[in-house]
Order: sequence, then structure tokens, then C-alpha cells
Amino acid sequence: MIYDYIIVGGGSAGSVLANRLSARSSNTVLVCEAGQDTPHGKVPAVILDSYPGTAYLDTRFHWTELKVTTQVVSHNNPDENRPPLRKYEQARVLGGGSSINGQLANRGAPSDFNEWDSRGAKGWGWDSVLPYFKKVERDMDFDGPYHGKEGRIPVRRIFPDLWNGYSKAAGEAFKASGFEYLPDQNGEFKDGYFPITSSNAYERRVSAAIGYLDPGTRLRKNLMISTNTQVQELLFEGTKCVGVKALVDGKQTEFRANEVIVSSGAIHSPAHLMRAGIGPVGHLKDMGIEVRANLPGVGQRLMDHPSIACASFIKPEARINEYTRRHIQVSLRYSSGIGDAPQGDMFAAAVAKSSWHAVGEQIGSMIIFVNKTYSETGQVKLASADWRDEPTVEFNLLSDKRDLDRLVDGFRRMAMLQEHPAMKAVTSNVFPASYSDKVKQVGLVNRKNKILTGIMAKLLDGPASLRRFLIEKLVMEGFTVDDVVQDDDKAEAFVRGAAVGVWHASCTCRMGTDDDPMAVTSNTGRVRGVQGLRVVDASIFPVVPCANTNFPTLMTAEKISDAILDGR
Ligand SMILES: Cc1cc2nc3c(=O)[nH]c(=O)nc-3n(C[C@H](O)[C@H](O)[C@H](O)COP(=O)(O)OP(=O)(O)OC[C@H]3O[C@@H](n4cnc5c(N)ncnc54)[C@H](O)[C@@H]3O)c2cc1C
Repeated sequence: MIYDYIIVGGGSAGSVLANRLSARSSNTVLVCEAGQDTPHGKVPAVILDSYPGTAYLDTRFHWTELKVTTQVVSHNNPDENRPPLRKYEQARVLGGGSSINGQLANRGAPSDFNEWDSRGAKGWGWDSVLPYFKKVERDMDFDGPYHGKEGRIPVRRIFPDLWNGYSKAAGEAFKASGFEYLPDQNGEFKDGYFPITSSNAYERRVSAAIGYLDPGTRLRKNLMISTNTQVQELLFEGTKCVGVKALVDGKQTEFRANEVIVSSGAIHSPAHLMRAGIGPVGHLKDMGIEVRANLPGVGQRLMDHPSIACASFIKPEARINEYTRRHIQVSLRYSSGIGDAPQGDMFAAAVAKSSWHAVGEQIGSMIIFVNKTYSETGQVKLASADWRDEPTVEFNLLSDKRDLDRLVDGFRRMAMLQEHPAMKAVTSNVFPASYSDKVKQVGLVNRKNKILTGIMAKLLDGPASLRRFLIEKLVMEGFTVDDVVQDDDKAEAFVRGAAVGVWHASCTCRMGTDDDPMAVTSNTGRVRGVQGLRVVDASIFPVVPCANTNFPTLMTAEKISDAILDGR
């Protein structure tokens, strides 16, 4: 059989495409997803949970071999001075990132999308994308010109009356610093603090798979969802993509289609293209791969939002309460005023619980990320031509000094907020932190971690001197708040070593105009230089927006679905 469309990856974008393209009954659609299915009634509890911290780290739903570097790799001597490898979670499960992410649902600044348009993604300005953001969502709180009421993904907020003590104190400190309270962060884009919008209904996650691949959609005879199906190779006849080779439950299979849509995420999509001979000529030759299309932009300009955190011990009465398991209830958008950064270039989230275990409930943090990121020298390259090998991923976060400066400044602002009486009343022992591999190791759900953190939590709730000793010896990573606040060199050393991305990998197969040599796809995701092949996922963003990337990805897939159905 020849399908009309094969979608490689049933993640955030893939789930939307599968639904929209199969809504036309004359289209036959196959989704190949490497991970497991999440059908209605059998979605694992960890995925449904409103508290997402266990899904982040659950290896059943990840590409577990993937390791990345975050610090800048020196181009003069890349092999000798290679920064340490870190884990970087990417989803391997139906729904992709939306099945394991933090459920934060925001869109970015109108100026982000106007920038997409001016960088060459014609027709992607704010006025053109807003209808598709609205199409994605069913806003359970707000109506009006910014909101959709009929989309497949419900969104909601937890308003201040239900906030735990830590979130309330953070809100008070934001207010005392002069920020406006915005009930609706996805209304007009401006600075202020707000109840964070999440893709969640009635205390349950709603992933793209839950929302778009619901039981009704699965009844369509023209839609085939093949999970545990890892695509190994894109098949070509000359320069036309005609199908894929895949392992289905370990068994080698070939599928044919009129068009193949690669939606494997910003790390794996460019790797598929490069293995098929579509990419930078020099690198393909180094890998011994025959060149099919010389596209120097494939895998280049990888982006994420660099982040660090200002953590503290939360007193027992201010911890997570009985109303919700959501760990982030309030966030802040602010303008750094540094250099030429636009309005709303920074984001801070008050995280009232840093892990599922007993110590996690005692440690809160203000996570700051650079919302308008300038560092765009990251890259994804093949480690070998073999489909079994994960690619080499260099984020080069902070390659643009403006990002470093704003993270240092952001940390200092958060440290100052900790001094507000409302925060001081509910926290103590403030320290610089990041979501390091050490933190992740203790965050794995197992008996050993449960027992150890149970003992540690009892000690932390004990005398203040013991708590200080334990936090300094076991939790902190070499820098004190005073180091980072008062000493510029130490601040730079801390931020360069500790900054990590927030899983917003994007931009490795950018949309752009015909005359832009770095553009990989057209403004409808068609891959240049070949036929029958599109990329539709976070990799085609021309630049990462001022937002967590799930909703921008869902919007992108909605917009391109329409273009495909219109025959563009
Ligand atoms: C831990 C984590 C937390 C995050 N938190 C947030 C948040 O709170 N809010 C937010 O907006 N965004 C968040 N994000 C980011 C957001 O979820 C992603 O940007 C978004 O899901 C990207 O969608 P995508 O379609 O590009 O890729 P994905 O959703 O990653 O989908 C790619 C899919 O392709 C599949 N695939 C890859 N290779 C193959 C192959 N060879 N064969 C078959 N299938 C394959 C993968 O298994 C995966 O399911 C988070 C991401 C992570 C990982």
C-alpha cells in the first residue's frame, strides 16, 4: 500500500498532523512513533500526573543514550577542550515532549513571530499565527480576541487563592518589586507576574496525543498509528522521498508514501536528513554519506533557553498544599533593560517543589531563563552514519555574551527578591543551583532514593545549624549567593558552568526564503532540493520564541496542516 502521508514521530507536532490530515477521509495517514502508545484509559499515571517531575526523568519515555554539551565548544581545539557531557531528556513516547513536559502553555511575544516573518518565514507574522494558537487551545478561564474555546488542548491556571505559601510569597515579592498582576499571561504580551497557564484539565495532563489522538480520532479507518516503530532510514528514488525503512517491534519493515513528513523533534529530525544525504556537504563527506542535497543549514543554529536557579529551603507550612500537585503556580515576565533586549526578554518561574521525593518538597527555586535568546551557534551533527548512534549535540548556550549578562543579572534580581519579608518568612538557606545531572540522579524514582531522601528530609527539618551544614556540604555546588551577587568573576564561572537548557531544542531545520543558503525548508516545511519530504516540528522555527516551545510547536503543526490540505 502507498500512504498519502507518513509522519515520522508521533510527538507534539506529529499528533496534530495525524489528526488534521486524516480528518479528510480521502487521505491515508501512517504515524511511525519509536516509543510506546498512550491510548485513552491506559495512559501511564506518571504521564497523567499534574506534577510532571517524575515524567521528566522516567527512562521508559526517553531517548536514554542521548548526551549533549551545553557549554561553548572551542572551534580551535574542539576535541581537547570538550565540555562535559550532560543528560538531555528528549521524549520517546506517543505525544513526544507534550507527554513528559512541564505542561507550561505559553506562546511567545508577537515580535517573535514578526521576526520569524522577517527572517524569511513569510506568512508567519503574529497576525497570521494567532488564529492557529487559538485553534490549538480550549481556554477554560478566558475568552476574547486572544483565546480559543474549541481547540483540542484545554488550558487552565491556578489562581492566587489556591497558591501554596511559597507561591504566595513569590507573588508578593514580585508585586513589591513593582510588577503588575496579570490574570492572563496569554492575553496582551506585557511584563508582570501571573498564574502560569498549563495544558491540564481537572488535575490531569493533556498531551498532544491525549488531545489530538483521542478515541474518536483513532476510529478513523484512514489513520494508522504504529508505535514501537523506529524509523531507520528515509527511502529515496533519486531526489524524491518515497517512504521509510523502520523496525516495528524489532521487525524490519518498509512503508511507502506520496509524502514523508519528518516530525522527530529538533535533535532527531536533522539527523534523519543528514543520514539521507541532505545537509552540509563537508560533514556528509566526513561521515561517508553520499550527498543528495547540499543544505548547509541542516543541524545548524540549534537553540534553547539557557537557565539557572536561585534555590532555598521552604518552611513546612509554605510547601505544596492539598489543592493541586502543580509545582509551578506563579511566574514573572520582565524586561532586563540590558543592551538592545526587547520587552519581556526574561522569564522567572517560582518552583515550589523541585522533585517528587521528600527533599524535593523542601526545596523551592526561582528558575530564571533567558526568554529572548541570542546564542545561536549550537549544532547537531552525526556521530556516525549508523541510525543506532545518537547524534553529537552541542548547544553552545551563552555563546552570545548578552545571554550570560542577563542570566547573571537575573540571578541577582532573584537573590534580591529572596530578601523580601514575604519570602524571608517562608524560606531560608538561599543558594545558587541548577538542574544538574547530580540532581537528576537523586530524582530517579527508586527505593534507594526514596529511603535516602526520606532520612535527609528529616534532618533538614531539624535544627537550623544541621540544615545549614547539610545544604552547604551536600546540596550546593561550590558557589554561595554572596559569590554570585558580589563577585563578577565568580558569577560568570557559576553561570557558565551551571547554565542548562530547559528542553526547548529548536531551529535545526529552519524555514526561510529560496535565496537564504541556511534555510532548510520553505514556509510550509518542504525540504529544499528534494521532493516528497517535509519537516514539521520545533526544528523549523527560524528563531526560538520567548516561550516554552510546546504551544509554538502545536501552532506550527496546525498551520502547516492547513497548508497541506490546501495543496500548498
Ligand atoms: C522534560 C521536558 C520538559 C519540557 N517542558 C515544557 C513545558 O513545560 N512547556 C512547553 O511548552 N514545552 C516544554 N518542553 C518542550 C516541548 O515539549 C517541546 O518543544 C515539544 O514537545 C517539541 O515537539 P516536537 O514535535 O518538535 O518534538 P517531540 O514532541 O519531541 O516529538 C518527536 C517524536 O519523534 C519520535 N521519534 C524520534 N526519532 C524517531 C524515529 N527514528 N522513529 C520514530 N519516531 C521517532 C520521538 O520518540 C518523539 O515522540 C519540554 C520538553 C521536555 C523534554
